[in-house]
Amino acid sequence: MRHRIQTTKTQQFIDITDQVAAAVRNSEVRDGIAVIYVPHTTAGVTINENADPDVVRDMLFALDKTYPVRGEYLHSEGNSHAHIKASLMGSSCTVIIEEGSLLLGTWQGIYFCEFDGPRNREYYVKIIRG
Ligand code: ZN
Repeated sequence: MRHRIQTTKTQQFIDITDQVAAAVRNSEVRDGIAVIYVPHTTAGVTINENADPDVVRDMLFALDKTYPVRGEYLHSEGNSHAHIKASLMGSSCTVIIEEGSLLLGTWQGIYFCEFDGPRNREYYVKIIRG
């Protein structure tokens, strides 16, 4: 199922855990896996802590420090840093579904990762029984 998401900043992590959990509930799948897939080259998806918002702030800080927006890049579009960060985070996550719920750790959340926004973006959630 396709989900649309409007990002509001040049770089940000958006918690999409509730939307993915709702997709799982609507599917009525009790046991299986959910694949979250981002079809972009300058945005990604990752799982990390959603209790303290400073964690994702620090992740963006560290990614920027390691891969600055401006650098000795060749790509003429000027967003090489975003391509690199998107690949680091990855384009998909897989979460186990157990007893109708996402099997996430207490502190885990699923984040859509924007690195070249703001833009209209999308991600897919595929739920597989098994
Ligand atoms: Zn580019």
